[in-house]
Amino acid sequence: MEILFFAGIFLLGLCVGSFLNVAIFRVHEGEQIVRGRSKCMKCEEPLGPRDLVPVLSYLALKGRCRRCKAVVSWQYPLIELVTGVLFVGLYLLHGWDLVFVRDAVFVSYLIIIFVYDLRHMLILDKFTIPAMIFAVLVNLWLGLVPAWSILAGGVVLASFFWIQLLISQGKWVGGGDIRMGALMGFMLGLTHGAVALFLAYVLGGLVGAYLLVTGKVDRKTPIPFGTFMAVGTLAMLLAGKSIVGWYLGLFA
Ligand SMILES: [Zn+2]
Repeated sequence: MEILFFAGIFLLGLCVGSFLNVAIFRVHEGEQIVRGRSKCMKCEEPLGPRDLVPVLSYLALKGRCRRCKAVVSWQYPLIELVTGVLFVGLYLLHGWDLVFVRDAVFVSYLIIIFVYDLRHMLILDKFTIPAMIFAVLVNLWLGLVPAWSILAGGVVLASFFWIQLLISQGKWVGGGDIRMGALMGFMLGLTHGAVALFLAYVLGGLVGAYLLVTGKVDRKTPIPFGTFMAVGTLAMLLAGKSIVGWYLGLFA
């Protein structure tokens, strides 16, 4: 029976991933997220039910449009798969309870922010503000993290970027970073939020150094820092206790 549950959760993740793809694409195109049918980006052929099955449709059509054979990005099935795997991970961590639902919503927002910043170099308020409201309300209601920590997390992490914005007169960071900082604090609380931010800098530094050394970017290439903040937040959401325990263990 258990295996059926895992399969169900994985399927749920695939479908949510499919919806996230649509949300990312339509927000960028300035369309309504829930209205209208999906269509091929090139020939505008509307997609039927058999073109919309997560991952399988992509494989069956070998990554091309049914009519015009335009190439469909491999990122679509990848996002579906990653969402499916993360949902199974959350189920392993929490079982089927309210924390699973909260984290599934958190993960969905983080995937959107990750992809959108990576592709378009923007952290949109359209995503961060509803996520913030949800995070504050659900965390205050669940009470797993003390209320002061949630509120202080949002304020401190937002201020961290706000001060940089003031000092650099908007050259180092943007308003999107401030809202993303607030979101991380509201999702994780003060301590875990700060660690997530630290992880984002470490990861961003490592990836940036690698890309510089290999000559793929130069010093002027802008960095999608929201992408790294999303990864740091995700890591703390999934393994916060282990990461903090491991770090403190270094000094024991
Ligand atoms: Zn087409």
